[in-house]
Amino acid sequence: MSSNIKELVESLNNNKPDHKINIMEVCGTHTMAISRYGLRQLIPENINLISGPGCPVCVTPISDIDWIIGIARQYDVSIFTFGDLFRVPGTESSLYNEKSKGKDINICYSPADALDFARNNPGKKVIFIAIGFETTIPLTSVIIKRAYQEKINNFYIYNTHKLVPEALELLLLDKEVEIDAFLCPGHVSAIIGSKPYNFIAEDYHIPCVISGFEPMDILESIATIIRQINKGISEVEIQYRRVVREEGNPAALKSIYEVFDKSDSVWRGLGNIPGSGLKLKKKFLKFDAKTYFTVKRFKSREPAGCECGDVLKGIKKPTECRLFSKICKPENPIGPCMVSSEGSCAAYYKYEKIKVQHLKNLNMTLI
Ligand code: SF4
Repeated sequence: MSSNIKELVESLNNNKPDHKINIMEVCGTHTMAISRYGLRQLIPENINLISGPGCPVCVTPISDIDWIIGIARQYDVSIFTFGDLFRVPGTESSLYNEKSKGKDINICYSPADALDFARNNPGKKVIFIAIGFETTIPLTSVIIKRAYQEKINNFYIYNTHKLVPEALELLLLDKEVEIDAFLCPGHVSAIIGSKPYNFIAEDYHIPCVISGFEPMDILESIATIIRQINKGISEVEIQYRRVVREEGNPAALKSIYEVFDKSDSVWRGLGNIPGSGLKLKKKFLKFDAKTYFTVKRFKSREPAGCECGDVLKGIKKPTECRLFSKICKPENPIGPCMVSSEGSCAAYYKYEKIKVQHLKNLNMTLI
């Protein structure tokens, strides 16, 4: 393995494939790192890095945002959520707007904060918005078990948790999406291990490399993918060995499946994906906000002109959305991909907008 970035980049240039290849980075943290460190500009032009559905806030459907707003309006409840969801636009409003109108909506850093609040305020109904992939699900499962053991009766979760491998299979089956390899997520894989990706290499003949988040990690992972493609093989390899094991984290997995069963889940842009979600087991159903609270029916609508769906499938780059940086900006986000700290549009806006504008200007000069 090459020992520094210069050698890695040279090696990538010397060994680049003779055709264009699309590598999808599944994780939003990878997207941010790629943009932040300018890795797209370092690698050969025919290696195309495309972002996938790896930002949990971005893939949460707008109907979920609308439901949470509906419940905040209809009931006297305290809602706790991670910060990224706060400013995602729903059809009519956002959690941020509702809070400014006096609704009891709070940012928390852990589901334990919401449970503590419920324990200390037994007269108040408390809902934690359980969002995230396999990385955050163990935390939710622990909190549910604790609420059950302590017989806390005023605590609920609004469950939007999602599982990553099932979504990758859906992308591979989608004829609009062209993927030659996956840069698999490091944090998710720390929980699930490498085995859940084996079907991608074996059945779809697509190389998968589980990558860390430093620039060297990502470049090494891309080099490993290129090596596989040049050899005509497809395997699941772990570059992020300092964190990820083949078997994942058995204790975390056990905790998840003590509390949840697999179910279908709706993803923004991708639709309903069988087996890509989780539902609370019968024993814990009393903590399920969707079971306890009924929200008046409401027709959700995607924001006009927003291409987040295509961005999340890797069909379009953020800069191909006509609202990008003109109307849609971090201070005025139209879709979730511009809000989230792991969103592709936010990454391009923060780190690559100037390069894109520079290229456009160059183009205009040439015309
Ligand atoms: S730039 Fe804004 S409107 Fe366009 S896809 Fe991204 S989030 Fe949606």
